[in-house]
Amino acid sequence: MIQVEALTKRYGATTAVDGLSFIARPGTVTGFLGPNGAGKSTTMRMIVGLERPTSGTATVAGRRYADLDAPLHAVGVMLDARSVHPGRTAFRHLLAHARTHGIGRSRIEEVIAMTGLEPVARRRAGTFSLGMGQRLGIATALLGDPEVLILDEPVNGLDPDGVLWVRGLVRDLARQGRTVLLSSHLMHELALCADRVVIIGRGRLLADATVQEIVDRSERAGTVRVRSSEPEALERALCALGAEVLSVEPGTPRGVLRVRGVSVDEVGVAAGRCGAMVFELATEGGSLEDAYLELTADAVEYRGRATTVGPEAGAR
Ligand code: ADP
Repeated sequence: MIQVEALTKRYGATTAVDGLSFIARPGTVTGFLGPNGAGKSTTMRMIVGLERPTSGTATVAGRRYADLDAPLHAVGVMLDARSVHPGRTAFRHLLAHARTHGIGRSRIEEVIAMTGLEPVARRRAGTFSLGMGQRLGIATALLGDPEVLILDEPVNGLDPDGVLWVRGLVRDLARQGRTVLLSSHLMHELALCADRVVIIGRGRLLADATVQEIVDRSERAGTVRVRSSEPEALERALCALGAEVLSVEPGTPRGVLRVRGVSVDEVGVAAGRCGAMVFELATEGGSLEDAYLELTADAVEYRGRATTVGPEAGAR
């Protein structure tokens, strides 16, 4: 288990992490999300003793990282896959780590096999692709067979096969009862492999819930999308029923309404009554990405403005 309690880190005038509390539990993949500069890396670095908190605590299995007797066996970490000596082979990199904990060669061969590094294990890490470097980072994290794993952007640079492999690996690790804390900016990927998600912005907790709970909170969840020949008449009919008609994003085909507070059946009946031909009618599910963008809207340092392209752009 990883326990973060009222954790705060200030760098001069910058508060990188601001009174953050959450728990990553055994048997669970916890996704850790936030815009750039939200404080994710600083939090992870404090959990593994690379930064000293200004206040608050971060513990692994109930102990501060510095107090762990054999840290590689307690927590496996990949914060930056590039932090490998470029002149060392993958095998010797793993050997150097293994020697600090009396871990034998058979375990090194095991993690090399687990991470698909056999063909390159005797090559210098400096010649590795980003994806191979990620695999070596994950192999290093697994070396001590730890109960807790902290992986920062583990699927960065991996090809689709590799992404699938990481998804299977973290699910397996959780199934074995281990604690996995994982950051990624690939929402779709996180939605597929995380059980819970902790979202932070400007160093503060914005959400800590299951993926489903967070998706259900998104504005889009439970809305009905209808594309018809008479959107104005249909909008009036739906408003008369007490429905809320939401704005439609630029770039959406003409005639589309997004509606909340009515069922698809009610929309279909209303369309029939006002003589509108219906071309599309469906309930919309929210996505983790929608929910994330809504939650972090006020916490983003840089966000491009939405632009409209295509034939409708000039007509506005
Ligand atoms: P994230 O990983 O979510 O992108 P970081 O934890 O890297 O965010 O950064 C959080 C904030 O703390 C940012 O504003 C960053 O500029 C600042 N920060 C991080 N490390 C340092 C440091 N060593 N010195 C000064 N400011 C830092």
